[in-house]
Amino acid sequence: MASKHQAPKGTFDVLPTDEAARAAVTAAAAARLGAAGYGRIETPAFEDTGLFERGVGESTDIVRKEMFTFEDQGGRSITLRPEGTAPICRAYIEHGMHRLPQPVKLWYRGPYFRYERPQEGRFRQFNQIGAEAIGSASPLVDAELIILLARIFADLGIPDAELLLSSLGSPEARAGYRDELREFLRDHEDELSEEVRERIDSNPMRAFDSDHPGTRAVMEKAPQMLDRLAGEDAEHFAEVRSLLDDAGVAYTLDGSLVRGLDYYNRTVFEFTCDRLGAQSGLGGGGRYDGLVELLGGPATPAVGWAAGIERILLALDTPPEPKPIDVYVVTGEDRARAFGLVGELREAGLAADLDLAGRSFKGQMKQADRSGARHAVILEPDGTAKLRDMSSGDQREVDPGSLPAELAAAAR
Ligand code: AMP
Repeated sequence: MASKHQAPKGTFDVLPTDEAARAAVTAAAAARLGAAGYGRIETPAFEDTGLFERGVGESTDIVRKEMFTFEDQGGRSITLRPEGTAPICRAYIEHGMHRLPQPVKLWYRGPYFRYERPQEGRFRQFNQIGAEAIGSASPLVDAELIILLARIFADLGIPDAELLLSSLGSPEARAGYRDELREFLRDHEDELSEEVRERIDSNPMRAFDSDHPGTRAVMEKAPQMLDRLAGEDAEHFAEVRSLLDDAGVAYTLDGSLVRGLDYYNRTVFEFTCDRLGAQSGLGGGGRYDGLVELLGGPATPAVGWAAGIERILLALDTPPEPKPIDVYVVTGEDRARAFGLVGELREAGLAADLDLAGRSFKGQMKQADRSGARHAVILEPDGTAKLRDMSSGDQREVDPGSLPAELAAAAR
């Protein structure tokens, strides 16, 4: 049926039939992250615009063209959050979490908003699960977070997620490399896209993310930070690699991996899945040792990742289906009796339902079948009741009074 109104472009409704698969993703994340000491945090869906301008970086695609920004009635500039890390660092500072034992380990799940060109796997409102460990520079934390995300994908049944791994080194080391890259880009200016050319000064590393064919060809020969790692940066990266090796988490080194946000340093990573086509990124993240300080907090090293729930759902071979109810109560005339029994069944912990649309007995049996319930209870006019096994069709007389306890015991 055509409605006058539709969900805004690039957004979608999550229907009850979709919910089981989404809940499974959240449950997998909650189980793995909870067992590793991560506590769930929720931050608002909107923040001051300045948080993202500073935190994500003015020269990034997100800040330049993808934010939903508006002025509220009080004249403040507000932005629907395009990502989760800057808000969590804001919360870490605001709640004085640097006084807690470090690192503070947090995870989250919620909607994020980016004005992007909608397509399969790319939306303007999408959902992410994410995790951040704030307050430790140890490579153990980088490895822990990467391993956790790999395990979550495996638990969900995405065995072919490929891990791409790189290191961007420290900001100081990267400054020298950026100069080298700028020089290289200027030597090939004619072959680059206009967008990349405009950002040679402000954000030369974004050239690695371009999908412009000319730029891509140039970038294949470009110098990579990964080949220039030295000193403590090199040691840190070697340690992360060795911890991943010990955990049996396979990865591919990819020096072209820079990720679209300004705040990363040292370890960066991304999980991709070839089956997803153009939008192959399942999730990714990295270390962002400078971000808390940039946002006004104490100098605090940190690592984190985010993964897109809709992309994960696309990568699942057999998404979990909604669980059917346990029992459907069918009645001839006495609707109140059926209503009362359904109440008792629900109190006993069973998922139970009945007809609420005045259907005939035959119509109710059809509904019982359609509901997928394992059992139907048929209330007879003489006060007796029958329990019907919906798959075999076997029926037997039961005492309606002891039915809730009996069915609850059978369901356990
Ligand atoms: P990013 O912060 O860009 O690295 O995003 C982290 C993850 O969120 C990506 O790997 C995707 O799985 C997901 N994601 C990002 N942008 C979108 C989008 N517009 N629509 C759906 N999923 C997205």
